[in-house]
Amino acid sequence: AIGDGPDELTLLAERHLVQPWPVSGSIGAEARGRLEAGEGIYVTDAAGRRLIDGPAGMWCVNAGHRRQELADVMAAQAMELSYNSPWYTTNAPSAVLSKRLADHAPDGLDHVFYTTGGSSAVETALRFMQFANNVKGRPDKKLIVSRQGGYHGSTYLSASLNGRPRDHDWMDSAEGLVIKLTCPNPFRRPEGVGEAEFCDALVAEFRDVIEKVGAGRIGAFIAEPIMASGGVIVPPEGYLVRMRELCREHDILFIADEVVTAFGRLGHVFASQEVFGLDPDMITFAKGVTSGYFPLGGVMIAGRLFEELRRSNHSDAMFAHGLTYSSHPIGCAVALKNLDILEGGLLDHARDVSGHFQSSLKALEDLPLVGEVRGLGLMACVECVADRVSNNPLTLDLEVGKRIDTHCQELGLLVRPLINMCVMSPPLTISKSQIDDMATILRRGI
Ligand code: PLP
Repeated sequence: AIGDGPDELTLLAERHLVQPWPVSGSIGAEARGRLEAGEGIYVTDAAGRRLIDGPAGMWCVNAGHRRQELADVMAAQAMELSYNSPWYTTNAPSAVLSKRLADHAPDGLDHVFYTTGGSSAVETALRFMQFANNVKGRPDKKLIVSRQGGYHGSTYLSASLNGRPRDHDWMDSAEGLVIKLTCPNPFRRPEGVGEAEFCDALVAEFRDVIEKVGAGRIGAFIAEPIMASGGVIVPPEGYLVRMRELCREHDILFIADEVVTAFGRLGHVFASQEVFGLDPDMITFAKGVTSGYFPLGGVMIAGRLFEELRRSNHSDAMFAHGLTYSSHPIGCAVALKNLDILEGGLLDHARDVSGHFQSSLKALEDLPLVGEVRGLGLMACVECVADRVSNNPLTLDLEVGKRIDTHCQELGLLVRPLINMCVMSPPLTISKSQIDDMATILRRGI
């Protein structure tokens, strides 16, 4: 009967399942590699092969696969209170989680709005900025500044911020609402320009935009502290803090999109302050908050912003924004248990092994195909180039990432191919010897 064996399952998916990012000719007709099981840092595919989960699913399975305590807490919460309307009621897990997240967030970011993932978190942060400026009587201050290479989601407004090549070729955006700045990628800085000088130029570009457009029209600046899907771009030293200062000077809200960098990826619950000395007005998060066991995201919001609204002439204005699954009790219960795991040693472990992770991958730079290996914490990118003199990716076979992924899968490792780049962000539970296995396979695959 249909559904019994692996082949039939592939057929079912091909007939009925639409997966993210298909090309038009394959929409609804392309089933990608099916996974059947996971344990720790490993997943097992439909052919029974055990693979290291190099990207931790989609940068999210931070605590690793098949954790009994996460499964138990989900089941227990479902039997206790499976759902409540966030419009009219609250629940215990969301109240406790909010307090614990506020304790970890930079000073003053003491409120949380929960969403269903990262896109809805970004969307919420932006809608809050729009609402706040309406209430404060400055309806023109709504433009959003993002960066080339950034990724913030797949809902209309969040997707409009994306600055990755190809994301806009065939898709519509909120035209006129977004300004995109240069990607702060030191590897791609102009020839002959030092990193400090490059940083100065990036900050000057933002200052010029503010002067030209007018601070009275710009509502928010949004940045991933480390651009994730853009290729793990670690910005030049001081860049984030200087951009933040410009925002403060011009009353522009700084939104740190920590959908990837939070919950241990960089060794801390939130990376903004601990890693970059940054104090944003809002932090968006998702993914690792539940280690991917339940779709949950959220926005940390500075209490100061609520105070300003309360003092305004329109303190009775309504923030008409809510999701049926905001503050979901099961999601928040899993997030609490996941925080226990992180605080109970996993953050320390992630910090302990990150040096070994970075140096093992950095060693791949001796391969002629590898232009640069970069990263921080437990996220890294291996960027392939046609040659090491031009560092040009464009004359390369643009499917090189996919080809490396195919070879690596044969050898026991899943990588996340992004055109000419391979992005690695394994579960934080990975041991040093498993990191060695990963680097060995990657070397052979490349
Ligand atoms: N922001 C960042 C930095 C992301 O990497 C992603 C997803 O990869 C998102 C937002 C969107 O999150 P989601 O896919 O959960 O909607």
